[in-house]
Amino acid sequence: MKDDILLTPGPTPLPPQVREALGRQIIHHRTSQYRALFKRVVQGLQGIFQTTTPVFCLTSSGTGAMEAAVVNLLSPGDEAIVVLGGKFAERWQQLCKAYGITVVPVPVAYGDAADPQQVAQALRAHPKAKAVFATLCETSTGVVHDLRGLAAITREGPAVLVVDAISGLLADACKTDEWGVDVVVTGSQKGLMLPPGLAFISVSDRAWTLVEQAKTPRFYTDLRLYKKSMTDDDTPFTSAVSLVIALEEALKRVQQDGLSHVLERCALMAQATRAGVSAMGLPLFAKRPSNGVTAVTVPTGVDGKQLIKVMYDTSRVMVAGGQGEMAGKIFRFAHMGYIGASDILAGLTALESALRACGGAPAGDGVAAAKAVFSQAPEAVAQKV
Ligand SMILES: *Cc1c(COP(=O)(O)O)cnc(C)c1O
Repeated sequence: MKDDILLTPGPTPLPPQVREALGRQIIHHRTSQYRALFKRVVQGLQGIFQTTTPVFCLTSSGTGAMEAAVVNLLSPGDEAIVVLGGKFAERWQQLCKAYGITVVPVPVAYGDAADPQQVAQALRAHPKAKAVFATLCETSTGVVHDLRGLAAITREGPAVLVVDAISGLLADACKTDEWGVDVVVTGSQKGLMLPPGLAFISVSDRAWTLVEQAKTPRFYTDLRLYKKSMTDDDTPFTSAVSLVIALEEALKRVQQDGLSHVLERCALMAQATRAGVSAMGLPLFAKRPSNGVTAVTVPTGVDGKQLIKVMYDTSRVMVAGGQGEMAGKIFRFAHMGYIGASDILAGLTALESALRACGGAPAGDGVAAAKAVFSQAPEAVAQKV
């Protein structure tokens, strides 16, 4: 059977080395062999997080690491600023509320990026706020926020900056140490080219002080346990061994090409996608578009849910619909991870014919527009990893 082409913002397609690694016989996690592997992957993760601080590895989807950030940094009754603007930013708000944290929302309209000055204002009005929660790529709207700007503002005071980079890492720039981002969270099934099941969190020294003080009850995600185990290159609870084995293969791919090359390729995929949909006359939804995912406004007269279904049924190309109140109004065409020029062209071809089938009239040749972008780029960049 032909494989699906997942142009979705998680899970993303698995490269051959990762698939091969997932099929290997398991090894035991309390062995020197596993510890050596774990040490290598943590170092590799520090490379892609661009940090020298520890990166902890949790067995959960990305949200588990978001929850770990909240419970490890804050105590009930603490104030936290949450930069809104989409479904995933709202998850920070829900998590804080679930643990009795007082949320100071920074409202951002769907499709817009946060203005760092709004955060500066919130910090001035709430000097006791211990943390600012933000999102690198807001996957629900396709917006990449100005992380560098947000970090510069937050660094002026004592609050720590916590960023959901679950879809952003390896797609949009995230210079954790250089920019001064205290906590970065990601998951395995997006830019990292793995199946879902692992989540990662980096913690700066500044943020670690809060981890020691936080009074929120925690057990499985208690980062103090993970830090203690890490001195032995180990995890406090059984690792997802097979996923960690596969992670090493994914990291090798990134290391072989170099992080900047991976980001450059992702930027090229995004550029070609944006050129393609724009040539078809479809407006981009995000005012500051991410390189990981392109959110596209569905033209009036076309049923957005039907459009996606027709794309899949006729071409086995899967894109994601809109979430919440954006359902049916936008669709999201992802290009992070193991995606190359051929996938983008297959996606645009499927989109063009589905659009016609659903009563839309493409304004121009989207595939040709994307090909024109690829023809300007070095061959090596357009290839998968
Ligand atoms: C995918 C995603 C999540 C959710 O991660 P899960 O792995 O489903 O828990 C959170 N935030 C962003 C920005 C995402 O893209």
